Amino acid sequence: MPDFVDLHLHTNHSDGRQPPREVVDFAVALKLKAIAITDHDVVTGYIEAAEYARDKDIEVIAGIELSASNGTDDTHLLGYLFRPDDKPLLETIERFRRIRYERGKKMVEKLAGLGLIVDYGDVLKIASHAAVGRPHLAEVMVNSGFVDSYNDAFDKYLGLDGPVYVPKAKLTPAEAIKLIHEAGGVAVMAHPALTDRDNMIAEMVADGLDGMEVFHPTHTRAIRKKYRQIAARHGLFVTGGSDSHSRKGRYGDIGQEHVPFEYLAGMKEAWQKRADRR
Ligand code: AMP
Ligand code: ZN
Ligand code: FE
Ligand code: FE
Repeated sequence: MPDFVDLHLHTNHSDGRQPPREVVDFAVALKLKAIAITDHDVVTGYIEAAEYARDKDIEVIAGIELSASNGTDDTHLLGYLFRPDDKPLLETIERFRRIRYERGKKMVEKLAGLGLIVDYGDVLKIASHAAVGRPHLAEVMVNSGFVDSYNDAFDKYLGLDGPVYVPKAKLTPAEAIKLIHEAGGVAVMAHPALTDRDNMIAEMVADGLDGMEVFHPTHTRAIRKKYRQIAARHGLFVTGGSDSHSRKGRYGDIGQEHVPFEYLAGMKEAWQKRADRR
């Protein structure tokens, strides 16, 4: 059997449900050769997973998923193989965490203005390790009986056009790519078909984008072919993973995308080339 990797995984340090150790154990049971923990805006899940996997037969590589916006369009960038103790990187993600905390508080105040009283402490409790976001608020609203469902909370209050929505600060793609590069890593455009932002690709390539996520549970066969071609045209390496948020949860299950080991080797080659140029 060929060796497989899964290079897009979330843990409960962001919006995944499983603790890092459980993700590692499951990946080991699947005999995956390597995994990357790519939590949103945090590296603590990766650090815990890497520590735990030290004496196990699996490689855990550093990852992170950052949201970026050029003002009009949003996209997700994945960073890999960076130094997890890089100061500018850690300071930036810590700053965004504080901004999210204040934003959450503002949304709770807006809800109160509509007569829906939510205890911010309850929201923070649900967020747990993760930086607080709208999904946590939606969950409290469901628990309080203010809405019938999670989607209802977004449709009526928390969505982009909803009365409670507060925009959130984001890095530009150029800033996100630079942050990853300066921390010694490589930058990959995440699930391009899911975010549907082909118009941003050329600019990101000019900003130093290194790779393109082609394997993703939301990508059809035709979409994979399309992005493989785009990657080849721009000299980007190809990568992918399940984007698992839990077993049987959002997007794929761990290991569901059968990404051959050679793609991680391709990523490392590009990483080495970038390191040599520094
Ligand atoms: P935040 O980062 O706090 O703005 O929350 C973003 C997250 O909220 C996304 O990753 C989705 O999981 C969820 N979300 C955003 N819009 C919707 C929507 N219309 N319906 C359901 N979930 C949504
Ligand atoms: Zn996520
Ligand atoms: Fe994403
Ligand atoms: Fe993701």
